[in-house]
Amino acid sequence: MESQSQGGVDCFLFSVYSMDMYLPTIGLEIHAELKTRTKMFCTSANDPDETRPNVNTCPVCMAHPGTLPVINHDAVRHILRIGSAIKATLANFSEFDRKSYFYPDIPKGYQISQYMHPLVTGGELSGVAITRVHLEEDTARSIHTTGKSLVDFNRAGIPLMELVTEPVIRDAETAGHFARELQLLLRTLGASEANLEKGEMRIEANISVSNKEGFFGTKVEVKNLNSFRSVERAIAFEIERQIVLIEEGGEVAQETRGWDEVKQTTFHQRFKEGSADYRYFPEPDLPKVFLSERREFSPETIQASLPELPWERRARYAHTYSLQESDAVYLCAVPERAVFFDAVAAALGGNVKLVSLATNYIVSDLAGIYAKRGNEEYTALDPVAFARLIQLISTNDLSSRGAKDTLRILVEHGGDPEIIAKERGLTQMRDTETLRRVVESVLAEETKAVNEYRTGKEAALQYLLGKSIKATKGAGNPAILKELIVKEINHKK
Ligand SMILES: [Zn+2]
Repeated sequence: MESQSQGGVDCFLFSVYSMDMYLPTIGLEIHAELKTRTKMFCTSANDPDETRPNVNTCPVCMAHPGTLPVINHDAVRHILRIGSAIKATLANFSEFDRKSYFYPDIPKGYQISQYMHPLVTGGELSGVAITRVHLEEDTARSIHTTGKSLVDFNRAGIPLMELVTEPVIRDAETAGHFARELQLLLRTLGASEANLEKGEMRIEANISVSNKEGFFGTKVEVKNLNSFRSVERAIAFEIERQIVLIEEGGEVAQETRGWDEVKQTTFHQRFKEGSADYRYFPEPDLPKVFLSERREFSPETIQASLPELPWERRARYAHTYSLQESDAVYLCAVPERAVFFDAVAAALGGNVKLVSLATNYIVSDLAGIYAKRGNEEYTALDPVAFARLIQLISTNDLSSRGAKDTLRILVEHGGDPEIIAKERGLTQMRDTETLRRVVESVLAEETKAVNEYRTGKEAALQYLLGKSIKATKGAGNPAILKELIVKEINHKK
């Protein structure tokens, strides 16, 4: 960078060196659509799966004059539960504010949000300090087609969580990890489906770099992050872009940038000239919220309503079943998966050895089956039947091949694993008398190999075992067969 004549390696080293001289600062702003029956301030349905436009609307969310909003208690409760889970301070007093701006997707000319008195302040998730969590209403959805713009008001007024982190994140991986943990928490609490690709969870990152000589960079906002990977890649890209720009003597502009998934770069969207004047003021049409006066919103009641949280569950798995951390993380990454695992473990009586075997089958074979099917439906698979399958494997009644086939059938059609295995000839033959007869006939035919084994050729034993397994069509228990072969040969000496 310093000189074009320098070799590529020198340039690279210089680049790495200067990267180290800078300290990135990242803060996240995350919105999530809350799961409620009705919208934030009216009785229109909150149905994210509705595909027909402008079906779930009413005079309130269409901003007709003279209508009055009413606070949705379930939405307030969701935010308080999120706050309680992240060990934040739940407000005693809260209120809603008007945030004024003009846009076709905000028909009132203002959005009802929270400014001075958010429901939740402070807290921490995955090692990242949280500034606040507040409640607001979603905007309508603008659809731009050639020559015209359309607005769908189904989304207008859907309760929306906004969570803001402190600007304490230093790298892209931490930001991505935080966002994944938040998604898992929201799903565990039943607060939001939080699918990024559906827009149910929207992530914005504020990124700046400073250096050790006291230089503070300008904050750039990056939007359009539709996957966790794009969150990580956009942040990493933006950090490098800003450092290179500063190193080359340029200046970082205060702007909003988008993420181009195809080019894998951020791009300019609009300049931010100072902070926008939203002319916040308390919403006069809504009552103040005195949370401390409502028993159902007291910190104790809210805390008592929380389910086992993802990090608590991971710790329990590691402690109770001595699971590897990566396995515990995998099991807890989808709430339904963890519920399934708990039911399997219970059906196995909590036996650590069997639970460990079950874990292996869940993280490898079952995960493989679901990956192939493209869905992970635990409702179809009975945990008790799965536990029975694990017991059959542990007692060698099923070969690993037979277990895989039985599991596939269980996932697709359900049923009793023992009956499935028997019907399809997948059980291992363990009846010694039957197996002895098989071995006897194999040895009678393979006299050459028998003699080779007698002269000390170990490979001959493997050959005879292979022949015997084949004679049982793969159902013979290999350990028993091996024992029988050796016994028979020694016996006939
Ligand atoms: Zn409505």
